[in-house]
Amino acid sequence: MNTYFDSTAPGASHDTDVAIIGAGPCGLFAVFECGMLKMRCHVIDVLDGAGGQCVALYPEKPIYDIPAWPEISANDLIAKLGEQAAPFAPTYHFGQSVIQVMDGEGGGFILTTSAGTTITARAIIVAGGVGAFGPNRPPLDGLKAYEGKSVFYMVTRREDFSGKRVVIAGGGDSAVDWALSLASLAEKIYVVHRRDKFRAAPENVERMKQLAQTGNVEMVIPYQLAALEGTDGVLSGVVVSSLKGDKRRLDADRLLPFFGLATQLGPIADWGLEIDTGRITVRPDNMGSNRPGIFAIGDIAHYPGKLKLILTGFAEAAAAAHAAFEHVHPGEALHFEYSTTKGVPGT
Ligand SMILES: Cc1cc2nc3c(=O)[nH]c(=O)nc-3n(C[C@H](O)[C@H](O)[C@H](O)COP(=O)(O)OP(=O)(O)OC[C@H]3O[C@@H](n4cnc5c(N)ncnc54)[C@H](O)[C@@H]3O)c2cc1C
Repeated sequence: MNTYFDSTAPGASHDTDVAIIGAGPCGLFAVFECGMLKMRCHVIDVLDGAGGQCVALYPEKPIYDIPAWPEISANDLIAKLGEQAAPFAPTYHFGQSVIQVMDGEGGGFILTTSAGTTITARAIIVAGGVGAFGPNRPPLDGLKAYEGKSVFYMVTRREDFSGKRVVIAGGGDSAVDWALSLASLAEKIYVVHRRDKFRAAPENVERMKQLAQTGNVEMVIPYQLAALEGTDGVLSGVVVSSLKGDKRRLDADRLLPFFGLATQLGPIADWGLEIDTGRITVRPDNMGSNRPGIFAIGDIAHYPGKLKLILTGFAEAAAAAHAAFEHVHPGEALHFEYSTTKGVPGT
């Protein structure tokens, strides 16, 4: 799926019309919208690839509320957005966060990344989602050695769990959904949770409990993770401990801890933007922030009545691109045209 998302070598200096911070679905669609207005884009993301929450948190889950796609997996949606943006030849900078935004010449900006890349841009669209994010890690000795080998914070390919003994820890939707999804593939699923109540869709919790009576799912409640056993990152067992301190060892090849996301707005909070409950306050008509030339779209944008949905972010991308045009090309008239009239490069 990454054919459209080649990352540029870090550390160089670049010049562009619009710098887009965040390569989630909304940032990617902003590339298309800016491209249609003949604005070149550079896209920066702290993650190692495109997709934001879609790829990092639920790549294989079907999404049902993307217009004209009755069902599309999060991975496929991102691949399609990459394909749609490709004719405009965006430059991607992955694995680096934008740490500084300084005023440049003529109302433009100079962005600096954690990898030492500098980008001079005439406008900025912040599509930073929930900010830089990562999984909440369980406090287990030696955890790092197992990460990426036996311990995963998301499921990128279900098949990797085929025939495995899997410990799923947590009590939210991810834990329950993946217990249900992997039960048909895995040899055994242990669901470790510290109490009997789950914060997940009740019908799914019910299905999981039924599987626990008839299938290969075992509920390990009330327990929490206590230790990992194995060598060289290859897991052989997970030790769990009850609240009273009783220990139990589960034979396991994989551990999926689903303890939610640690999110932080990070450096975005220091750029002089008006922030309301961790999001950037924008005008809903043009997605403009309090800093002229800086726009925000998607989950990170806040205005009254905001709906945190991908489709909302798509419309915001169009509004922001049109507003950014005025900043990139001051005094130049923008003639509104449909895509059917304009076409895209290469068609
Ligand atoms: C389990 C789950 C299921 C969901 N299901 C649906 C659904 O069915 N329908 C729907 O519409 N929505 C759904 N959502 C919500 C949807 O995923 C979000 O609304 C969407 O991802 C927001 O897109 P975005 O582009 O604004 O931000 P994100 O997808 O969060 O992407 C933002 C990107 O910005 C990057 N970033 C942040 N700060 C910086 C920085 N300083 N420098 C560089 N990069 C930075 C982050 O690394 C991230 O990759 C779901 C969410 C979850 C968690």
